[in-house]
Amino acid sequence: MEKQDTKTDIQELEKKLKYTPTHVWDSIDDDEKKRAFAFAEVYKDFLDQAKTEREAVRYISEKALAAGFTYPGTSNPPSSAIVMNMYGKTVSMARLGTEPISEGVRIIISHIDAPRLDLKQRPLMEKEDMAFLKTHYYGGIKKFQWLTRPLSLHGCIIKSDGSALNVEIGEREDDPVFTILDLLPHLARKAQYEKKLLDAIEGEKLNIVVGSLPFENKDVSDRFKLSVLLYLDQKYGVREEDLISSEIEVVPAGRARDVGLDRGLVGGYGQDDRICAFSSMNALLDAKGLKRTGILLFADKEEIGSDGATGAKSRFIEQVVAELMKTAGLTPTAFQINSILSRSQALSADVNAGIDPDYTDVHEKQNAACTGYGLCMTKFTGHGGKYAANDANAEYVGWLRQVFNRQKVVWQTGELGKVDEGGGGTVAKFLASYGMNIVDCGPPILSMHSPFEISHKGDLYMAYKGYRAFLEE
Ligand code: MN
Ligand code: MN
Repeated sequence: MEKQDTKTDIQELEKKLKYTPTHVWDSIDDDEKKRAFAFAEVYKDFLDQAKTEREAVRYISEKALAAGFTYPGTSNPPSSAIVMNMYGKTVSMARLGTEPISEGVRIIISHIDAPRLDLKQRPLMEKEDMAFLKTHYYGGIKKFQWLTRPLSLHGCIIKSDGSALNVEIGEREDDPVFTILDLLPHLARKAQYEKKLLDAIEGEKLNIVVGSLPFENKDVSDRFKLSVLLYLDQKYGVREEDLISSEIEVVPAGRARDVGLDRGLVGGYGQDDRICAFSSMNALLDAKGLKRTGILLFADKEEIGSDGATGAKSRFIEQVVAELMKTAGLTPTAFQINSILSRSQALSADVNAGIDPDYTDVHEKQNAACTGYGLCMTKFTGHGGKYAANDANAEYVGWLRQVFNRQKVVWQTGELGKVDEGGGGTVAKFLASYGMNIVDCGPPILSMHSPFEISHKGDLYMAYKGYRAFLEE
């Protein structure tokens, strides 16, 4: 063996043998940096327009239809690009490739629900001469983060005649907002400070202030509640019973913003996982020369376990493949649908946790995702001994690594936290049950599940670039 002693020789050797993740900003030219910033502008607008799964479905469907995608059975001859909507809460976009669909498809699945507070079905109550709406939180939240901030209401109410009323209050400048009260520090010692953080704020205290002016006649009970009901009836034609058939989500009011003097970060609600929804949608819209059929799934209910007709455990994907087969002139059978899915490749496009600079010791740094280091491939999720993880095949990770490297995607690998520190799951395992190859792949996020999540514009752009490379290869 040759002797390697000069400084350059050793540097060369290190470069050749060692794996060193690179920062996106060290890896792309000025032109791409400009494109990354421009992409983030459209992204922030998407975050503002799509704060709930229903709003995300509307946004994605509109973009797809504008780009020539059609609902199955609505165009003759059938279009090779379809969009399918299930109950207005989950949606799929798909485009046939030039290769036969029987060879398998490429799937990117993201989720469009986010942690929030849902109104209870009988939400309205009165206490101490104010009116409130009771909530039940949805997904994993740190309850204290939702107090004393402006909140908005988004959703729909199905009235007694069956008609649907869309609700969005608290986003326009002249709209009122809503809020949850918190105890002043002066009196918080026993009620909050002496308790564990987890127990200090009770779920039943997450009540939204909705009114403070009494009904004028003093002879009735619950004057503040009645006053709110009167307003709802006069303004919207909504009675209290109508709220039983409603889905009203309480989310942070206000727009997504640039964060930092250099504007390198995006701050906003619901980036887990709408950052992946947005970047995969644009990847399919922009993809050129698709060989394999590309399918995007935007799932609901990920944050509460993926159950339900609009969650990733449903068999919506089979319907999408069936429609694509019909479009391709084939007769879908259960056997063929399963055969196609088992030959497919998929990305579970979901975010990972970026290393939190103030809590580095919950991460194992060598195997953690870093903000600004690009799209993160997560071979396995789960908790305590990889329990309930999909754990992608090495062969598949190897193939994807080649795709990303060929297309100059800045990517990294990371697992969620130290061994035995905690953990989490994604939808990967549900699609894997068809026998397809699937791996988790998404940008890192800071302050995940908070009302103001943080992403890096370089990572957002690399998510788009990586998803596009996956669809185009
Ligand atoms: Mn997620
Ligand atoms: Mn999540």
